[in-house]
Amino acid sequence: MTYLSTQLIHHPYSPPAGFAAPQPGVFKASTVIFANVAAMRNTEWKDKSGYTYGLHGTPTSFILEERLCTLEGGLQCLLVPSGLAAIANVALALLKTGDEVLIPDNAYGPNKTLADGELKNWGITHRFYDPMDPSDLVAKISSRTRLVWLEAAGSVTLEFPDLLELTHICRSRGVISALDNTWGAGLAFQPFDLEPGGSTGLGVDISVHALTKYPSGGGDVLMGSIITRDPGLHMRLKLCHMRLGLGVAANDVEAVLRSLPSMALRYQAHDRSARALAQWCTQRGEFAQVLHPALPEAPGHAHWQALCAAEIGGAAGLLSVIFHERYSQSQVDAFCDALKYFKLGYSWGGPMSLVVPYGLASIRQTWPTHLARGTLVRFSVGLESVADLQSDLEQALASMV
Ligand SMILES: *Cc1c(COP(=O)(O)O)cnc(C)c1O
Repeated sequence: MTYLSTQLIHHPYSPPAGFAAPQPGVFKASTVIFANVAAMRNTEWKDKSGYTYGLHGTPTSFILEERLCTLEGGLQCLLVPSGLAAIANVALALLKTGDEVLIPDNAYGPNKTLADGELKNWGITHRFYDPMDPSDLVAKISSRTRLVWLEAAGSVTLEFPDLLELTHICRSRGVISALDNTWGAGLAFQPFDLEPGGSTGLGVDISVHALTKYPSGGGDVLMGSIITRDPGLHMRLKLCHMRLGLGVAANDVEAVLRSLPSMALRYQAHDRSARALAQWCTQRGEFAQVLHPALPEAPGHAHWQALCAAEIGGAAGLLSVIFHERYSQSQVDAFCDALKYFKLGYSWGGPMSLVVPYGLASIRQTWPTHLARGTLVRFSVGLESVADLQSDLEQALASMV
C-alpha cells in the first residue's frame, strides 16, 4: 500500500482479542464486512446468528435486546427509534384493510391519534373501550378485531385495569393483545406472567416499552422495544420492522445499556417519592381527586395491588391531581408556572421532575364517572429530594389564591 489515504482506510492493525470491561463495546455500522461472497450470500440475520447490515443488528443492539427480554420475561425483542414507533410497528405488522383494533380510552394519546390518522386512511377501523369494564371489551370484540391494546396504569389518569381478565378475554377470543408496558417497565409486574405465582404463561402476547422513560433514565434518549414470547409473532413484527427500516443508533443503545443496571433502584426511588407526594396531596384542600394506583381510593387500586404489590413491584413515578372545579384554567396554569423544580415538559422517567396540565375533555371520548370534574395536572416525580418537591408544590399552591 502506497498512499496514506488508502492506508488509513485499510489499516493492518487489529487489537488483541479478549478485552473485558463492565460495559460492552459499542459497534457502529451501516455496512457490515463479509469474509467472502459465500458468506455475503449465506449469512442469516433473522435468527441473530450473524450480521449482514447495520439495520439488522450489531453485537451492541443484540446485547440490549437480550437484556430487555430478561427484564420483561420475553424471548424475542425488536428495538425501534421511539416508543411511538414500537406502537406503530405493531399496528402496521398485524393490521390490514378491513381489520379493527380496540384501544383503551385512557391509552397513550398518540396511539389513538395513529388509529385516527394513518390506520383510518388505510381502511383499518378502531374503537375505544372502557378498560375498567371488561364487559365493554367483550362487547366490542368482533370478527374483524385483530388487535387489542392494553395499558396499565392508563396514561394521565392512571386507572389500573384488571389486566389478567382483559388478557383472558383476548386469549379466549383468539385476538392478539399488546400491552404498552412503559409504566410497569418490566419491574412493577411481569407482562407475560400475570397470574399470581407467575410462570403459567398467561399474559399478553406483545409488550411494547418506551425505553425513552425508565430504561434511558436521563431524559436524553428516544427508543422503544417490542417484546414477544412467540417466534411466529416475532417474525411478523420483525419482517415489518425490516421493511420499514426502523433502526436505532449505537450511541443511544450504549446510553440505555449504561442506565439499565440502575433502573430498578431508580424506579423504587421514583415510586417512593411519588407515593409520599400523592399521600400529601390527599391532605390538601385544593384537589378534588388524587390519582395514584397505590392510594386505596384510586380507580383500580385492588387490581394494582393484586399484580404489583409483590417483589420489586411498585407504582412508577407518576401522579395526577384534579383541582376542584372552583379553580379556573388560568389559576391552574399559574400554579404550573409557579413551580420551580417541576419543569414544564412532556415525557418522564428522568431525574428531573416534570409537570403537564391536561385538558381531559379533549383526550377522552367521555368523562369517566370515576373521575372528578376539574382541571387535571400530571406530575412526573424525579429523583430530587422529596422534601424539596413537597415545598415546591406547597409554594405554588400558596401562590394561586
Ligand atoms: C412516552 C410514552 C410512549 C412513547 O414513547 P416515545 O419514545 O416518546 O415515542 C408510549 N407509551 C407511553 C405510555 C408513554 O408514556
